[in-house]
Amino acid sequence: MDKKEIVIALAGNPNAGKTTLFNQLTGAHQKVGNWAGVTVEKKEGMLLHRGSKIRIVDLPGIYSLTAYSVEEVVSRNFILDEQPDVVVDVLDASNLERNLYLATQLIELNIRLVFAMNMVDVAHARGIITDYDNLARLLGVPIVKTIGTRGEGIKELLDTVLEVSADRDPISRHVHIHYGQEIEEEIEKIRQRLKGVPDIANRYYPRWTAVKLIENDPLVKKAVAASPEGEAVIKQTDISRDHLQGIFEDDPETLIAEARYGFISG
Ligand code: GDP
Ligand code: MG
Repeated sequence: MDKKEIVIALAGNPNAGKTTLFNQLTGAHQKVGNWAGVTVEKKEGMLLHRGSKIRIVDLPGIYSLTAYSVEEVVSRNFILDEQPDVVVDVLDASNLERNLYLATQLIELNIRLVFAMNMVDVAHARGIITDYDNLARLLGVPIVKTIGTRGEGIKELLDTVLEVSADRDPISRHVHIHYGQEIEEEIEKIRQRLKGVPDIANRYYPRWTAVKLIENDPLVKKAVAASPEGEAVIKQTDISRDHLQGIFEDDPETLIAEARYGFISG
């Protein structure tokens, strides 16, 4: 049975058209405030679609899911800790490659995702031709074309959100970004160790946590270290990072970022 109320979060790069889509989706039914403890604006709205109540949260614009800016931390914590039913990533179709960096990181979270391919009018005017159906199949995420300023694609977007939230969407599947054998082996070692830390393993997708630890992500490291069983994971992380540093010339975080860019250009 479909849920009575679902929560969707709008994520995306700055200027991809999130607020424009948010306004089209919610109309006048908006509440504006601040995120707890920070001076970043928080917008929420409600709407009804095909009998389902949908609460929409407009997340701050971000380029990545690291923890280096307050916007990234707010967006990431909302997605990880509040666990919205569906995350809609708004992509600028005229700047697709750059926008896919965040999209790739959202894919890695193994969450219910929809891509709103916005600004298709701009892409079209520039002669950019993209096979969105094929891209959606490759990424395992449904893509809905939108033109925020004209309200085009809004109904289709909401239909897709409902299908994804009910696990009925035929395109949705989890795709792994492959990091190459050496890194994959270390991801696996950390992932195995994470099984001994149930409060982390149950909260976050373990493969994602392992990748973030290899990237030396301060917030994930802190969360793992705060857990009584976390020490073995931190130890394995140090060993894995040293090992990778020894094999390659670069920092593990650089290797991970390069692999993501490789996945995107592929
Ligand atoms: P945000 O930073 O992601 O919230 O982006 P905004 O919603 O503020 O949009 C950035 C700019 O792009 C604004 O000037 C919008 O009017 C414009 N915009 C949004 N969606 C579209 C679209 O689909 N096509 C065109 N041509 N412009 C758009
Ligand atoms: Mg905005």
